[in-house]
Amino acid sequence: MGNYLTSSVGVEDSGTGAVPGADGTGEESTDKSSDKGSQNFEIVVLGTGAGTTYVYSRETSSSFVVLKEGEPLLLCDAGYGVTASCQHHVGRLPPHIYISHNHGDHAGELPVVLAVESKAAAAAGRPAPSLYAHPDVVEELRQHRLRELNSTGKPLEAFASFRQVPSGGRTPIGDSGLSVKPFLSRHSETCYGLLLYLDDRPLLGWTADSGFDEALYDHLSEAPQLLVDARSEGTEEHAGFNELDRLAALPYMRDKTVYITGYGKQDEAPSPQEVPAGMVTARPGMRIRLAPQQVPAGSGQQG
Ligand SMILES: [Zn+2]
Repeated sequence: MGNYLTSSVGVEDSGTGAVPGADGTGEESTDKSSDKGSQNFEIVVLGTGAGTTYVYSRETSSSFVVLKEGEPLLLCDAGYGVTASCQHHVGRLPPHIYISHNHGDHAGELPVVLAVESKAAAAAGRPAPSLYAHPDVVEELRQHRLRELNSTGKPLEAFASFRQVPSGGRTPIGDSGLSVKPFLSRHSETCYGLLLYLDDRPLLGWTADSGFDEALYDHLSEAPQLLVDARSEGTEEHAGFNELDRLAALPYMRDKTVYITGYGKQDEAPSPQEVPAGMVTARPGMRIRLAPQQVPAGSGQQG
């Protein structure tokens, strides 16, 4: 009954907010946040490939794109095959790109993408793409991955606006209302997964490439849905299908929806018996609606 009462109040609030211009600026922030709550955010899985997948089999590396109201907003990783997959599934690349780490299957297409997209943006009078990464990863990308752009004679800043995503806080993604908070994963290369937020509400946790790591899963389980790296044979740097049961049994994973990605080709996906209840195998083209974690009753916004 308490829940019913709370949600009734919520409905009335948004009803009030639906009369534009009726209220003064004092109401604006409340209205804005409830509007954002009803905004339509989703992700589209672009690929589930591992390190060798695209190179030998032309199936797209693991990556996803965040859409806001159906428009591409944020690309998460730009490894081999991702650009064409993004164009195929959502029409074009978004203006914001987050890179988890400097492996080819996560950043391999970045130099070409930045060269092409910055040129197209300049021609259209738009700013160059924004590139988000943890400061340590930004340094890796500048020194190694993006080194080939030096031959143009232009500074790297001509190709992208570099946005550092330091640990411990949230970094806004443009003025979209979304922000990201990075978490170090267990991987051979310095790699940061993230929590994706709408305002201060977690929407999605993503491990990027990672071995089984309870502390990482604990952080990411602030969100109601998680994208988790796992493959047939687990190692120190990639979780294995045989560890999914352990993941599902962690107390903070109750009521979470876990999508398994990073497993490689489609025929390398986990068998139904390997997927615990509450988990789903991510597939290229899959759309996942993002909704914030329910705000507990009693902590409603009063402006
Ligand atoms: Zn990797």
